[in-house]
Amino acid sequence: MPNLPDHKSKPEHCLFSIDVEDWFHILDIPSAPPVKEWDKLPSRVENNFLKLLEILDGGQVRATCFFLGWVAEKYPHLVKKAAASGHEIASHGYGHQLVYKMTPQEFLNDAAKAKKILEDITGMPVLGYRSSGFSMTDKTPWVFDILTEAGYRYDSSIFPAAREHGGYKSDLMAPYRVTENSDSLIEIPISVARFLGRPICFFGGGYLRFFHYRLIKKMADRVIAEGRPVNFYIHPREVDPDHPRLPMSRLRRFKSYVNLAKTESKINKLLNDFDWIRFCDYIKLNFQSGEND
Ligand SMILES: [Zn+2]
Repeated sequence: MPNLPDHKSKPEHCLFSIDVEDWFHILDIPSAPPVKEWDKLPSRVENNFLKLLEILDGGQVRATCFFLGWVAEKYPHLVKKAAASGHEIASHGYGHQLVYKMTPQEFLNDAAKAKKILEDITGMPVLGYRSSGFSMTDKTPWVFDILTEAGYRYDSSIFPAAREHGGYKSDLMAPYRVTENSDSLIEIPISVARFLGRPICFFGGGYLRFFHYRLIKKMADRVIAEGRPVNFYIHPREVDPDHPRLPMSRLRRFKSYVNLAKTESKINKLLNDFDWIRFCDYIKLNFQSGEND
């Protein structure tokens, strides 16, 4: 059994995370461009990420930025600016590949490469990892061991509900250590709330854009009342309603592009309505025993 943190007496916080990638980093569609073509595409990540940093500044909130290694390599000043503003730098892997389509060795190479690029830019250790598309499943039981081998201290990739790619059947909705070992990797799952009897995510990507703010707030309050932090996630392209579109099925188009024009105002309300903390600080507060730093 994993060790659950003893945080009953501590205030719960919300966690604001940005998966720093470009508009064409959409997974699992035939029109998704391969890595070798990314350089030729018009990039929007620079302006969009700077806009997100301004939004966070306005709310006086510090976030955790899961940088795609490829983006960090191309725009190291974005990593430096985020770090200088007090945001945590974490890793979104290098090449934005689905975990369950990689071999364990390919996964190790990708996760380690991104970590090194980020650490070389900031000179600071990178503790956190998030996989592309939350694509860890019961078919990838080796991921935690490999992330530990690569030097990561926590992961935030488990999506404990049904999902198109990824999705991990688990009753563990609160952050936990993946083994009983007191210095083992910590998992901070994507937040889900029970709604009409089913675990549903209201807190990121298409879910955050689709649901009405009042419902998102109510569900976030419910998660907090259950003693869990709320793990929100956003992509830079989501504050850029005019970004180019990739061809895809009607359903995927809806999920990828619904309500883009409303995202910024929703984020502003969230920043104002909740208390925020970086993932690294949440871990320090809640998993103190066994941590050396
Ligand atoms: Zn991603």
